[in-house]
Amino acid sequence: MASAATALQSADAAAPVAVEMTDVNKWYGDFHVLKNIDLTVRRGERIVICGPSGSGKSTMIRCINRLEEHQKGRIVVDGIELTNDLKRIDEVRREVGMVFQHFNLFPHLTVLENCTLAPIWVRRMSKSDANERAMHFLERVKIPEQAAKYPGQLSGGQQQRVAIARALCMNPKIMLFDEPTSALDPEMVKEVLDTMVSLAEEGMTMLCVTHEMGFARQVADRVIFMDAGQIVEMNEPAAFFSNPQHERTKLFLSQIL
Ligand code: ADP
Ligand code: MG
Repeated sequence: MASAATALQSADAAAPVAVEMTDVNKWYGDFHVLKNIDLTVRRGERIVICGPSGSGKSTMIRCINRLEEHQKGRIVVDGIELTNDLKRIDEVRREVGMVFQHFNLFPHLTVLENCTLAPIWVRRMSKSDANERAMHFLERVKIPEQAAKYPGQLSGGQQQRVAIARALCMNPKIMLFDEPTSALDPEMVKEVLDTMVSLAEEGMTMLCVTHEMGFARQVADRVIFMDAGQIVEMNEPAAFFSNPQHERTKLFLSQIL
């Protein structure tokens, strides 16, 4: 668990907008999964999203890089509105890194190759530059010695750190995390959270779905509670935890804290 150390300096309230969601609605068939989502995230802000299983947390962050499509409302990422225009979707995906619960590494590629694939093929980087960059980020996540191994030879915590390094190799402006520690054995949670804390300290714009409330207290500028497809409550961590406003938030917190 992340220690409840002093909170980081808050994000700059006047910083440019990184992600703007305005009245976003989404349906899976008849099922209304996101309801009137309004959210403005500024550059450098760290947002933690929590809420019960099935409340729409993954769907919401997946809409930000168009892994899911919204049907109503607007999503603007770093000034680019997400529409059906594939070129814009590509542009947004280049700016947004994503880390999943189950790592999603390519099992047949080495750690190094996992990290260089997109820079070479999407960014058109030379192999030697991509290798150099990959080693830089593998050092940052403290596993340069694993570069020649395959994902299956690594622990879960190491694999997740590779997934973070892989995302960073694309030089993203925004990082999305979808329950990055929930598939890990408890002893590996800290190494992944420490990596995320160091990213936060460097000023990365982050939206993290997680129930690691120690992490939320330590790094979040705002904590969002979602339930049944809605943002029920959003507040800075101290107020969110000490004085939740809604019954549903109180109930949820009483179950997980
Ligand atoms: P969370 O991440 O908060 O657990 P999700 O965003 O994954 O929630 O899912 C929200 C709801 O949408 C759940 O009821 C889930 O079953 C449903 N859902 C998720 N993905 C799909 C899909 N591809 N098709 C239909 N329903 C889906
Ligand atoms: Mg989810």
